[in-house]
Amino acid sequence: MAAAALIVGWSQQWALPVIAALSVAVSAYAAFQVPVWCGALNRDGRTYCRDNAYGVLMGCKRRQHRWQKMKMIVMRSKAGDLSRALFPTAKEKFNAFLAVGGLLSAVAAVIVPVVTG
Ligand SMILES: [Zn+2]
Repeated sequence: MAAAALIVGWSQQWALPVIAALSVAVSAYAAFQVPVWCGALNRDGRTYCRDNAYGVLMGCKRRQHRWQKMKMIVMRSKAGDLSRALFPTAKEKFNAFLAVGGLLSAVAAVIVPVVTG
């Protein structure tokens, strides 16, 4: 919903502060609110947790899984594992795209007035 409003906002040239606020809302939603799979590595080392989690950056109710995702994000030592954990399905890829896109849009809304004067 917010993402759609964001696209309309850009194409209709809404006021940039509105677009910036909307962008932050979209990326915060995707990062911390959207329902996704947890995706943390299970104890067997081969499968990924399929419990419900909220936000591409968060894990499920198991504290160990949340820590595991945090650590993966911070350390980035296993980039392959990270992308598999964060984006196991097309839907998760889309959510991550929203998170990144919202952030880029927010940055653009701040930079555009600086560049165009
Ligand atoms: Zn989990």
